[in-house]
Amino acid sequence: MNTYVSKVLEELKAKNPNQPEFHQAVTEVLDSLSVVFDKHPEYEARGLLDMLVEPERVILFRVPWVDDKGVVRVNKGYRVQYNSAIGPYKGGLRFHPSVNLSILKFLGFEQIFKNSLTGLPIGGGKGGSDFDPKGKSDNEIMKFCQAFMAELYRHIGADTDVPAGDIGVGAREIGFMFGYYKKLANEHVGVLTGRGLSYGGSLARKEATGFGLVYLASEMLAHFGNTISGKTVVVSGSGNVAIYAAVKATELGGKVVAMSDSNGYIYDKNGIDIKLIKEIKEVKRGRIKEYLEKHPDAVYGDNCRDIWTVKCDVALPCATQNELDEKGAAALIKNGVIAVAEGANMPTTLEATKMLQDAGVLFAPGKAANAGGVATSALEMAQSSGRLFWSFEEVDAKLKNIMKNIFKNISSAAAEYGQPKNLVLGANIAAFKKIADAMMAQGIC
Ligand code: NDP
Repeated sequence: MNTYVSKVLEELKAKNPNQPEFHQAVTEVLDSLSVVFDKHPEYEARGLLDMLVEPERVILFRVPWVDDKGVVRVNKGYRVQYNSAIGPYKGGLRFHPSVNLSILKFLGFEQIFKNSLTGLPIGGGKGGSDFDPKGKSDNEIMKFCQAFMAELYRHIGADTDVPAGDIGVGAREIGFMFGYYKKLANEHVGVLTGRGLSYGGSLARKEATGFGLVYLASEMLAHFGNTISGKTVVVSGSGNVAIYAAVKATELGGKVVAMSDSNGYIYDKNGIDIKLIKEIKEVKRGRIKEYLEKHPDAVYGDNCRDIWTVKCDVALPCATQNELDEKGAAALIKNGVIAVAEGANMPTTLEATKMLQDAGVLFAPGKAANAGGVATSALEMAQSSGRLFWSFEEVDAKLKNIMKNIFKNISSAAAEYGQPKNLVLGANIAAFKKIADAMMAQGIC
């Protein structure tokens, strides 16, 4: 590793102890960037990497709210405004009990690179809370969202920082947060994306991450002489990303045979009934096990990680970070997987990624493969500021084009650095070039 790069990485680990996810995300990126720093000593002279790994601003706040029984509850709220060299901070809000600074810094750091890859003018950020929306009434969700926005509103803005959804934050939560922002700031602007269609949202935003993932996976397969049509596909998760990845993979002729939630997974050899998954997850907010009530011939396994033992050609991890480890990778390789494309953020551990790449499996990293969501959020921002409303077909066509360009850029960067199949390297380098240009131009600030 380049000495400057390894020095920055060591210092980062020492200065930020007990943040394993953050260390993991930065290590993956810096591993790839070493070759770039060898070529560009001027970056070191400017302290570029020291600035890049440090968030521009971290906001940590108290979120007090009252539950349905009248009990006062207090959660932690966060916003990591990581890097605004390319544009306003942009990245989702996650509501999940596992949320902490390490996870949000890893997500924020990844987001800088992902947003750069979209080719659109958006910087990187991420935020959220350790609040658990599961089992809460609509009234409690609204109370919490309002309490969260009561602090966050003073730090965000349509040209400053534009949050969106992530795990635990869907259309309902965005609606409650937007309503409260509007009340406090007295302005109806595109300050959150993922909004409902009746108040400034964009068609195809809901589908964008999952659709974009399959568009990119298809580009990758085509580039290496293959196609998704006729392939068996496994999709982990059953949330926003997973559902629309399964929809698009099916539409393009793939057969999705397994999906999961945090309790377990279902395997349906006849192909997953996605309409039923939508009903269970989007309408009833139920558990994936309920699938068996309508399809008793399907199989349920009560360990979600075992989903990787299901034989498939294409695996799309779309649930959460580090859900695909060495054991999962070994099972996939043994069963002859051809391609893995990450729908979630950092779902594959560093060790599992290396195993898959060493075994010759095509591997598309999340920062490229799931960038369709944030890209479409940026299209939502453009529609908001232009007071426009594009058709589903228009947005979908733009999304497809963006994913094509992302694949083109990451595969040519990989080829330029002599490793044409290493799309992790390609994605990190292609993303970094634009960020580095912008930061160099803007000086030490
Ligand atoms: P959702 O909250 O809609 O869904 C998450 C899904 O993953 C749920 O089905 C959840 O199950 C499941 N899950 C959580 N942990 C596990 C686990 N250990 N094993 C199996 N399933 C699990 O979130 P999203 O679909 O929005 O996000 C999924 C991932 O995609 C995240 O990493 C997110 O950061 C990333 N992402 C999302 C984007 C978006 O536009 N939404 C954009 C880019 C990335 P349960 O119901 O049991 O909790």
